[in-house]
Amino acid sequence: MQTTAAKLVNLIRSVVPDLADLPLYLVFASDLAVLSDYIDPSCDAVCGRHLDLELRSHLESRGQWQGRGAAIIARDDVGNGALAGLILHELGHILDASLDLSEPESFSHIERLLEISAAVREFWNQSPTDLPAWFAHEAVWLRNCIHLHARFEAAGMSVPLPLVIPGHYGISSCWKYHAELGDEPKRLERESFATIRNTKPPREFSDLWCRDIRATFLLHSECPPRWAQVCISELEKYTA
Ligand SMILES: [Zn+2]
Repeated sequence: MQTTAAKLVNLIRSVVPDLADLPLYLVFASDLAVLSDYIDPSCDAVCGRHLDLELRSHLESRGQWQGRGAAIIARDDVGNGALAGLILHELGHILDASLDLSEPESFSHIERLLEISAAVREFWNQSPTDLPAWFAHEAVWLRNCIHLHARFEAAGMSVPLPLVIPGHYGISSCWKYHAELGDEPKRLERESFATIRNTKPPREFSDLWCRDIRATFLLHSECPPRWAQVCISELEKYTA
């Protein structure tokens, strides 16, 4: 599987300028002796701000540690198309914000694991009554995924978009978002994801996202406070 991982990492580096000079650790579940240290059996992939540090001894034992960087663990028993979809999904998260590689010295193993677990909970959606199903999969992430999907396709690796953006987030279909983003992936195909984050998306794309959020409100007459808070925060980003 090492060859597959290396090929994917090379492809990612070639289409994501933000990761061109940074270590990117792509670890397959089958290579981890104790997978449950990092990822629940029901979870297909995970990334996390300190996942590289959690994987450090594993990577060092294989001579692969190159310093702080981005990291993804993915199940590799899901088939090639699904695997690529999982990786693009996680990359969408990694590119949600600029990479923070600072590590407080006091940060404990447990704190790192809790941070990773928070990311894992996205998949389980363990608190459906507290947060909308789309939580952590907001417009920035959707946009990243559609750009990544287009860049992989242009590089000769076609990945079905629904494998990157699954349909269980209670929002419009990935193809609707794809349509509303229009030709932006082509226009910005050489730009970094930092530049994309700093560029306003097409109005149609933002409008679709806001309509989806409002629909979330309407579906829940007694919206929990945390739920309402994340909806308002998202609406404020795109209706200002
Ligand atoms: Zn996710």
